[in-house]
Amino acid sequence: MAKKKQAKKNAGKRKTGDSIGDALRVTPGFQLADLNPAAKPAFSGKKQDAEKVMAAARNEIDDLQERLYAGGRDGDGPAVLLVVQGMDTSGKGGIMRHVVGTVDPQGVKLHAFKAPDAEERRHPFLWRIRRELPDPGYIGVFDRSHYEDVLVVRVHDLVPPSTWGRRYGQINTFERKVNEKGIHVIKVMLHISSDEQKARLQERLDRPDKYWKFNPGDIDEREHWEAYQEAYQAVLDKTSTDENPWYVVPADHKWYARLAVQQLLLDKLRELDLGWPDADFDVAEQKKRLAAT
Ligand code: AMP
Ligand code: MG
Repeated sequence: MAKKKQAKKNAGKRKTGDSIGDALRVTPGFQLADLNPAAKPAFSGKKQDAEKVMAAARNEIDDLQERLYAGGRDGDGPAVLLVVQGMDTSGKGGIMRHVVGTVDPQGVKLHAFKAPDAEERRHPFLWRIRRELPDPGYIGVFDRSHYEDVLVVRVHDLVPPSTWGRRYGQINTFERKVNEKGIHVIKVMLHISSDEQKARLQERLDRPDKYWKFNPGDIDEREHWEAYQEAYQAVLDKTSTDENPWYVVPADHKWYARLAVQQLLLDKLRELDLGWPDADFDVAEQKKRLAAT
């Protein structure tokens, strides 16, 4: 069977026992166009089941996050960086509220990247990214990221093709250096359909409590839907590496996307095998001193 056809056949269908992470990790030959944005890979339950799984995972994430934080206290130790990309209305904000928002805020460093300001434009595109990297012990979260510099920038010709064309390699090198600092990266693309985006924009126009989220420019961007899909495909082709793979999360069902991203975060924290730091004082001696008070 042709590779593309095989991929299509497998999209959304998984062997039982695969974790959500295994099911969503981008491997060579992955075709975005073949993944149904309404799929729920590696999860057979319903929304209510997902909520139960998420509630249970929250406790484990809390514990692991505290260990991560404790391990970073001496200015050393690992950090995690969750990079979230996706089209307008793909649910990035919901991930921030429902997944990131349940983690102890003291241990989270969140940054939403907007169009670069005048100062940022005077520097190489990775300059503003570097400044927001998490310190040891922190969970850094990027709502948009350096990938905008090969997405919106490519779609709108904001720099010449030779410039954005070099950026994929620069990004891979940069992310390897980020790994060397002890920062473990999770890259997530929220994948929605054009119809679902239309419905979500419609909702923003129908509900006064959602007007604030509506941006007339988002309708103009819909004209470039295909160009964005191509630009995302190029990102996945060129920057999904063994060290720093992409995870494409079908996001037409918001609840599935939130579950999936939470599981990716949990998997990563588990992988770090986090213990508690040793005391840097003599425990017995301190107990004796305390007893004497
Ligand atoms: P939002 O995430 O909806 O608040 O919108 C942020 C906007 O900033 C989006 O339209 C992005 O495309 C835009 N943006 C983010 N990074 C860049 C960048 N490097 N160059 C140009 N536009 C960007
Ligand atoms: Mg927006």
